Amino acid sequence: MEIKENKNNLRNNIIRKTKGELLKCFNCGTCSAGCPVSQISNFNPRKILRKLILGINLDEDIMSCVTCFTCTARCPNGINIPKIIDVLKIQYNIEGIKNNNTKFNEAFLNTVEKNGRLYEVGMLLKYNMDTGNLFQDAEFGLPLMLKGKIGILPHKSKNAKAAKEIFRKVKEIDERE
Ligand code: SF4
Ligand code: SF4
Repeated sequence: MEIKENKNNLRNNIIRKTKGELLKCFNCGTCSAGCPVSQISNFNPRKILRKLILGINLDEDIMSCVTCFTCTARCPNGINIPKIIDVLKIQYNIEGIKNNNTKFNEAFLNTVEKNGRLYEVGMLLKYNMDTGNLFQDAEFGLPLMLKGKIGILPHKSKNAKAAKEIFRKVKEIDERE
């Protein structure tokens, strides 16, 4: 995944939004050794930070970071790596770069924003449409419905309005930053 924004702009943007966290990295690799996603993929937080510092294109799937903070807890400099990756995720979003993880997140958040809670059927339909795989996992839907595990119609939370307000405020903060 290649971000179109000028590499220096991106680097400076990350440094500004994370108050210089990126520059504290001395490339020791402790973060990658503890990262659960690194154990099962080519995702590597040390490499991501190094590439950002040097202005090299990223080929890691940054969307697979699960924001568990294990890296930050282990980093000798306490660098907030998930925050750096969050800035990258926002930039990917701005540039419309999407993979299946992004599409899943969007489908999930979309139903939570509308209903104040997850609406499984709505989420899966949106995800399947967005990924162009309409009948993906369809064989699980009917048995789950028959067992009452998922409903055909959404059940709105009584706090749906408050949830919507949280989404509105987050968007407002995003636009301000
Ligand atoms: S926050 Fe992201 S980068 Fe850090 S350990 Fe967790 S998955 Fe890995
Ligand atoms: S543990 Fe901290 S200092 Fe070491 S490579 Fe990772 S981010 Fe850099």
